Amino acid sequence: MINRIQRRKLLSLIDEREDGCWEWNGQKNKLSGHGVFLGMNIYRLIYSIYKDKEITDIPSDMIIQHYCDNPFCVNPKHLYSCYPPKNRFFGKRVKGNKLHVEEVVKIKQAIAQGYSNRFIAREFGLDHSAVSHIRSGKDWKYVKIEGAEDDS
Ligand SMILES: [Zn+2]
Repeated sequence: MINRIQRRKLLSLIDEREDGCWEWNGQKNKLSGHGVFLGMNIYRLIYSIYKDKEITDIPSDMIIQHYCDNPFCVNPKHLYSCYPPKNRFFGKRVKGNKLHVEEVVKIKQAIAQGYSNRFIAREFGLDHSAVSHIRSGKDWKYVKIEGAEDDS
């Protein structure tokens, strides 16, 4: 949970609009465009505060969506959590098949968007260790995605 000073800072970065949306004016991840505060996904953070939970209490494979059409809205009443649709990135692959570069790019993008190894492994039909090796750069280090070093 964030402390009182951080909470004040957080509130100072939110613009309450007349239409009910709370616009996030703070940092945004260059790659995914989602709001970031102290290295945390702003929607997860706001949602967890609203639900009186720790951000870590929200399962890492759950995503926070908007009821409104405003992607920068952080009004907790406009946010809800759900599991992403199955096979969001690719169809299931046959285990043991060699990865393609295109898949590695998608995996790196998913990592940059904050998805867990477990979630990505399930989506791509891989072992956790394969995703972990991509994350650490042990495998596929030469495959670069734009803005990957940006914090998320
Ligand atoms: Zn809204």
